[in-house]
Amino acid sequence: MICKKEHRYLPLFDNLPDDQGGAGRHRCAACAFERGYQDGLKRREQLNLDLDSLPESQAGTVRHKSPHAAYAAGYLAGVQDSYR
Ligand SMILES: [Zn+2]
Repeated sequence: MICKKEHRYLPLFDNLPDDQGGAGRHRCAACAFERGYQDGLKRREQLNLDLDSLPESQAGTVRHKSPHAAYAAGYLAGVQDSYR
């Protein structure tokens, strides 16, 4: 499954580290961000990145971005929003 969402091009992801050789390098970091965000909103305490279930990314700014960093950034944003 290839991610076709517009979020592939969000400039936010420019700041994430690259993951050229890791397990998540073909996964869509923006989808990882959204998953982290949803978990953060719920302040989930049992976290599971489950990288294999994320769509793959072939283009855009999230290509080869670390899904681990994206998930963590999303989780933080979600937790912050949960207090608003
Ligand atoms: Zn995506």
